[in-house]
Amino acid sequence: MVVIRGVSAKSILDSRREKTIHVSIKTNVGSFSASAPNGKSKGKREKKSYKKDLAGDIKTLKKFSDYFSEEIIEKFSDLRRVEDIVDGHVGANTLFALESAVLKAMAKEQKKEVWELINPKAKKLPRLVGNCIGGGKHSETTPPGVPQSTKYRGKKPDFQEFLLIPKSKSVKDSFDKNKEAKKAVEMMLKYNNSKFKSEKNDEDAWVTPLNEKEVLEVLKKIKLPLGLDVAASSFFKRKIYHYKNPMLKRTAAEQLNYLSNLIKNFNLFYIEDPFDENDFESFAKLLKKFPDNLIVGDDLTVTNHKLLLKALKDKSISAIIVKPNQCGSLLEVKQVCEVARDNNIKIVFSHRSGETNESILADLAFGFQADFFKCGITGKEREAKLKRLVEIERSL
Ligand code: PEP
Ligand code: MG
Repeated sequence: MVVIRGVSAKSILDSRREKTIHVSIKTNVGSFSASAPNGKSKGKREKKSYKKDLAGDIKTLKKFSDYFSEEIIEKFSDLRRVEDIVDGHVGANTLFALESAVLKAMAKEQKKEVWELINPKAKKLPRLVGNCIGGGKHSETTPPGVPQSTKYRGKKPDFQEFLLIPKSKSVKDSFDKNKEAKKAVEMMLKYNNSKFKSEKNDEDAWVTPLNEKEVLEVLKKIKLPLGLDVAASSFFKRKIYHYKNPMLKRTAAEQLNYLSNLIKNFNLFYIEDPFDENDFESFAKLLKKFPDNLIVGDDLTVTNHKLLLKALKDKSISAIIVKPNQCGSLLEVKQVCEVARDNNIKIVFSHRSGETNESILADLAFGFQADFFKCGITGKEREAKLKRLVEIERSL
């Protein structure tokens, strides 16, 4: 058994150079730590990352450190004890990092891998979903290594992510295919526009002045299954989708027609957040038109089993994004996965746009037997998770 003797936390920088939390615990079997990522195009119904702010949560954990002393943890469901102590006092990022550190301690004590604590019989590996070209809110910040003064001010696609979803015999093979394809796309973007300077966005995806149709024309040539994260809430205001590239407005009905055409013309089989996060009805209309495609809820469902139940009742989605720090509680993550599995909803574990080197997401995805793993293609924070998944694959 693991006996927690103390808890502490500090602030670190994520891949976007924004502050995030890093939690450490002292136990009878050693010290363990974990960190949480940050979202940028966040769902309005996500749990808050911190109770008030990051500094406040760090102080709270310090204050509560004694409450953990002698707390005994033996199995996954004992995370309930951790939650009982901090519930309502810290935010989702802090809770996620804390529970992750506890799982690492438990794995060490039981001489197991983290995924084995969740499901020792896990077998099936998830299929990779890799962001190749980006737009929207993830292409606004200046990435590391680029002078702060050169913010992306030019044109960019309105959709947030253009995704490659190879179907291969192994995770390793898919990872290699995505990396190769991303390089090939760089060449094509250069050929297409001599001003393209191989700039990358928050998730290390290419940034281009092309619009979504032009991007899809390029990606079509690489002959891999394609997907989109429209992240439609990020350009929805007063009942209208406001496109900038080119400038035009679409109502929900027009958005439905536009996306239906893109799905048909470019053979897209994965569409995430095609409509605003409150519009369960339009999601349902799209799913009805394309019952064999993955219509994926992210901002719509924010890793919350009650919202998943609503999406099921309304027949809005066929797949759900699971981002553990949208809710913070790994017990809630478990419940979301169970409801999804029982109702034939595909499970997509996902990184956030501001990531750390933490790799536990791979163990969680495999342990919960996710169908897909959405985690970029390149960049050290993304690769840490992808490499961990390859390591799990090798170990089987
Ligand atoms: C997403 O929308 O899928 C995403 C990763 O965005 P963020 O982390 O910025 O919320
Ligand atoms: Mg999304």
